Amino acid sequence: MAQLILLPGKERSAFKRHPWLFAGSVGRLEGRARPGDTVEVLADNLRPLGRAAYSPKSQIRARFWTFDSEEAVDDAFFKRRIAAAVALRQAMPELHGQQGLRLIHAESDGLPGVIADQYGDTVVVQLTSAGADKWRQAIVAGLLKATGCARVYERSDSDVRGLEGLGPMTGWLHGEAPATPLAIEENGVRLAVDIAGGHKTGFYLDQRENRALLGQLSAGKAVLNCFCYTAGFSLQALAGGALSVLSIDSSGPALVQGRANLALNPQLPAARAEWLEADVFQALRDFRKAGRLFDLIVLDPPKFAPSAAHAERAAKAYKDINILGFRLLRPGGLLMSYSCSGGVGLEMFQKIVADAALDAGRNARILRRLSGAADHPVALSFPEGEYLKGLLVQVD
Ligand code: SAH
Repeated sequence: MAQLILLPGKERSAFKRHPWLFAGSVGRLEGRARPGDTVEVLADNLRPLGRAAYSPKSQIRARFWTFDSEEAVDDAFFKRRIAAAVALRQAMPELHGQQGLRLIHAESDGLPGVIADQYGDTVVVQLTSAGADKWRQAIVAGLLKATGCARVYERSDSDVRGLEGLGPMTGWLHGEAPATPLAIEENGVRLAVDIAGGHKTGFYLDQRENRALLGQLSAGKAVLNCFCYTAGFSLQALAGGALSVLSIDSSGPALVQGRANLALNPQLPAARAEWLEADVFQALRDFRKAGRLFDLIVLDPPKFAPSAAHAERAAKAYKDINILGFRLLRPGGLLMSYSCSGGVGLEMFQKIVADAALDAGRNARILRRLSGAADHPVALSFPEGEYLKGLLVQVD
């Protein structure tokens, strides 16, 4: 095994069990290693630190598989880590029996670069690092064994693979496409999941608990769901007794799926749903001009800041939509506002929302702080894993 030897003082993050080693920390590589190969990581004084996947093309030059320098990284390693991640979900009452479930949340489950989401008896994997890519077969075998699922589909077409020098990889790794379209039940509503063409692995599982909360808040309310994707929040609002639910997205296919999802739920009052294919920034300005108001507004925009470097421009966009949201609320109304940008921390997000309320001339208070669902754990040693943050705010 090749050895990756760090520069003096650069072992500190490994002592804190942070899984990433940046290029600037690395002194030299002794021996040969190809992308994704496991290397032994040593401090400058040659003290062993653990074993990591080598990524020569990436600024994140290596990702630790283990901080135990004796632990073999082999098929059995992946079987163990995957079984532990699946067992963790099985042990959590609120996740029990969920048909849509994140099984592996990458670094926070000790498997950097590995995402696995289960939809019924299908698992969708997304491998985003050279190390994860190399262990594809072991990961698939581990998932099949731990879940008993029938099929595994790969959705490794995320842009971040480019940073690792990897091209897109998609297709069936085990089994073949099911005869009927995939659908899951979530909080009592049915949702189709397009694993091949949808966003991420097909669905935003991280918002499951927040969608349930929205349902509890919706009775008798005029709800506006901005950035609705396939209408997950909208259907919960209808199930919760909303008077009306207006769903906006700029993606035509997402809205087609959203409408189809509503049709999968004949128990819901379809006549109360209104759909709008539009840019949210523009649509909210138009509502303002038209004097249209709402009781409950969801803002769940895409990642405006992929990294801290984009945080400033993103902050302006977040502030913009939040100002617009605040202006469209009736007295006593609720704003459920999110950011899924890793580069925008909770403190910064709260400040943005506070500034937006001020600019909109609304007095407001936080009722709840919101985050990703329980199947999206955040390792204490990896705060970067906490990308989703939200606030439930009430105006006077
Ligand atoms: N709330 C959704 C997930 C939202 S993902 C859920 O629970 O499933 C973000 C969505 O924003 C995507 O569907 C994308 O098509 C949409 N989007 C991105 N930019 C937009 C814009 N400027 N106006 C409207 N929709 C936009």
